[in-house]
Amino acid sequence: MPVNNISLPPREKIFLADLHIHSRYSRATSKEMSIPVLAKVAFSKGLDVIATGDFTHPEYFSELKQLLEPAEEGLYVFRDFTEGPRFILSAEVSNIFSQGPKKNRRVHTVILAPSLEVAAEINRALAPLGNLEADGRPVFGFPVKDLVKLLRHISPEIIIIPAHVWTPWYSLFGAFSGFDSVEECFEEESSYIYALETGLSSDPPMNWRLSSLDRFALVSNSDAHSPAKLGREANAFFRPLSYSQLQRALKEDRLAFTIEFFPEEGKYHFDGHRTCGVLFSPEETRRHGGKCPVCGEPLTVGVMHRVEELADRPPGFIPSQKPPAVHLVPLLEIISEALGKGVQSQIVKRTYQQLLELGGKEFDLLLYADLEELKEILPSKVLEGIRRVREGKLYIRPGYDGVYGRISIFSEEKSPEPSQPRQQSLF
Ligand SMILES: [Zn+2]
Ligand SMILES: [Zn+2]
Repeated sequence: MPVNNISLPPREKIFLADLHIHSRYSRATSKEMSIPVLAKVAFSKGLDVIATGDFTHPEYFSELKQLLEPAEEGLYVFRDFTEGPRFILSAEVSNIFSQGPKKNRRVHTVILAPSLEVAAEINRALAPLGNLEADGRPVFGFPVKDLVKLLRHISPEIIIIPAHVWTPWYSLFGAFSGFDSVEECFEEESSYIYALETGLSSDPPMNWRLSSLDRFALVSNSDAHSPAKLGREANAFFRPLSYSQLQRALKEDRLAFTIEFFPEEGKYHFDGHRTCGVLFSPEETRRHGGKCPVCGEPLTVGVMHRVEELADRPPGFIPSQKPPAVHLVPLLEIISEALGKGVQSQIVKRTYQQLLELGGKEFDLLLYADLEELKEILPSKVLEGIRRVREGKLYIRPGYDGVYGRISIFSEEKSPEPSQPRQQSLF
């Protein structure tokens, strides 16, 4: 059954992986982010592989050594739930440095390690260079290309992925502190970078507009700071399940597909002025000379604008041979809209739990379940919501100038501002 007009490979041929999350040892994260909770939540979502996050943190790393047992090659499993999802050792680090014309470069990088032993070696090498205990996402003052050099000398099996590459701060292409190309940033180490994380604020179709990114596998992860956010973005890899299979797929750009959040939901997707109520596409901003028609001040430009600055292809360009991107709305949000109740309300949470008990795991419901067969189980409006999400029939008002974007499945009239069907307006 097609989802977003894409024929997905059979469920048993793929594994779903979320490769970037944070533990409770990172700043601004939920206290619940621990291995037992991650295992339980990832299982109910239908994630087959979940990142540990934060293996650079000494205390968390001791927990990982205690709680994880080896499973398939390069993967681990929670020792009390050996039928549960597999764990892959992951960490994120932040490099803040000067390079070229800009001071204050800030680039975040996701590191995946093939074993606890290699992770321990990475920790030994990084410990003298920064404070690993201060934060689950440690900060270093040297150029990010030197991080690549250091890691590849430890093991060629370590996977290095520039994180959420378009966010204005803390990213490779970020408008404020970033670079214009992978090569400008990584220089002689560029060939060791073969995957980029698109992040919540961009999706593969936005990245396809840069021919310079054609050689990179584009990955999508949740960067979750709380259990509920696990898997809001994820990657489907072809089986067999193993670390080296995953690394090969990234090197050869052969993912099955990625699961995307709508980038328009981000609060800096489009351009505009919040206080003046002005919401512009990059094109409209250009037509107005970058100035707000209400107050005359420069408009706050968003992620899409930055993508267009670097893009050499028109919107909607689809390169050949790229894994497709599937856009989904989390089941909890579909239920919330179908019932007309808040995501946090008891009735929505209870319905969500019931659906998972009766219908199976979240991703299986959203992507693979035969909706006809679920007629008896699901409230008809929830069923219709899933159908519309699969068909991509949604109304979206993009985020701008600090205002989150909004998605509406059932009616555009609900939102006070004008909104348009996604397919026509944006891509
Ligand atoms: Zn980050
Ligand atoms: Zn204004």
